[in-house]
Amino acid sequence: MALRPAGLELEGFSISGLATYVLVPEFDACFDLGHCSVEAAKLRNVFLSHVHQDHSLGVPRHRSLRAMWGMKPPRFYCPAESAAGLREFLDALDRLEERTEDERGADIVGVSPGDVVPLGRRKVQVFDVTHRIASRGFTVFETRRKLKPAFLGQPGEHLARAHENGEILYDYKDIQRFTYIGDSTLATLRAHPEVSRSEVLVLESTYLPGRDPVVPGKWGHTHLLELVELAREVPGFFGSARVVLKHFSMKYDPDEVRRALGALPPELREQFTLLV
Ligand SMILES: [Zn+2]
Ligand SMILES: [Zn+2]
Repeated sequence: MALRPAGLELEGFSISGLATYVLVPEFDACFDLGHCSVEAAKLRNVFLSHVHQDHSLGVPRHRSLRAMWGMKPPRFYCPAESAAGLREFLDALDRLEERTEDERGADIVGVSPGDVVPLGRRKVQVFDVTHRIASRGFTVFETRRKLKPAFLGQPGEHLARAHENGEILYDYKDIQRFTYIGDSTLATLRAHPEVSRSEVLVLESTYLPGRDPVVPGKWGHTHLLELVELAREVPGFFGSARVVLKHFSMKYDPDEVRRALGALPPELREQFTLLV
């Protein structure tokens, strides 16, 4: 399914227990990779929130498709605690497939809270996420430039001359373009309210009202009503972020998910987008 929240092109799929992945071609990156499509394999950087199979099983396919196409080896970022296990998993597949050493190229980079990793001209800040196993969230920062007020509305040749004279034409500002949180309880948002300053915020909402009562932290996941409650308790919590909800339980059909969104307070209905 393709989405374009806040002008950022996303391609994704997400059903709890089956597969979750969100592709951001502009970043040359995938966030989680429960399944690897042809389009996903073209993106070099893979950020795994955690290594539950529905978020990570696309890794071997991603690596072998890129090797087959002669593309640069992928970079798999994952929680530091899971890096050795992921390496062993790929090594076991290499033995099964009788692969030679030089076909095994893949960078596996374990990341910890507070790490900042480069992503082309952007940077990615890593933070901790509360789930059943080690899990990380990722915020992508990019630098935007804005013409200084003194130069606004001036013709191009004036600006060119000012530039030649060594004047600084622009103000530069780091903005939070995108935050991705995989499987998580509400504790992550409480610990990291700053993620709501992102233009696009991808969250999970495994459980919906109707069939499932709210059991905070159930199986390390979030209930939609917990997000609603947080927005009520802390007005403006989600700021001006476009919030993309994913990872709905497979027992709900897409219409049921849409109906649940339709029943939300109007301001959240406006702000939330579904990946179903
Ligand atoms: Zn999951
Ligand atoms: Zn999980």
